[in-house]
Amino acid sequence: MNNGKTRILLLSDQVVDRFYNEQVRSIFPDVDMVISCGDLPYYYLEFILDRLNVPLYYVHGNHDPEVEFATHGERKHPWGAASLHRKIVNHQGIILVGFEGSVRYSKAKYQFSQWEAWLQVVQKFPALLWNRIRYGRYLDILVTHSPAYQVGDAEDRAHTGFKAYRWFLTVFRPKYHFHGHIHHYDHRELKPQTFEQTIVINACPYQVVEFE
Ligand SMILES: [Zn+2]
Repeated sequence: MNNGKTRILLLSDQVVDRFYNEQVRSIFPDVDMVISCGDLPYYYLEFILDRLNVPLYYVHGNHDPEVEFATHGERKHPWGAASLHRKIVNHQGIILVGFEGSVRYSKAKYQFSQWEAWLQVVQKFPALLWNRIRYGRYLDILVTHSPAYQVGDAEDRAHTGFKAYRWFLTVFRPKYHFHGHIHHYDHRELKPQTFEQTIVINACPYQVVEFE
């Protein structure tokens, strides 16, 4: 933590070659936490986790394999990293909630119907209410692979956001929503947008956020 700020490196969807390299330490000397919004190879996340030596949280993207076969073995998730899917995690006072996957458009594992996303979100309601009583807020950061419906999503079937997430943002008002899944050819095009009280950030392929 630097002056009460937590520097968070967001990763998603595309491997950045210069991060998959020993120089990643000098690029991010003062990052406190890494969050992956999905669709990244597990070996890449493990490399970043090992070199930066800070906690790494993730959600799976719709392109994540059930098993990744790499030179160093098979894995179903990045080793040493913590999944946020359907979890509420208090990381040094920052409350994180996550949901993996995208809207269903094929038979792959990490895809859900709009209805299934509603169920996942509604099931967190009691725990979020408890947070509100205990900490005075429901959460700080929502981490998902898919964007919310019409908040940074796209119009084609595979990139339509979840309506449940939109409702979630309206009701629980996190400070941030980090998501992936939507690729932009020019990284500079990406600007955070605000929805209700939430700053919505597309992590693809990376962003750095200072959380106060
Ligand atoms: Zn995706």
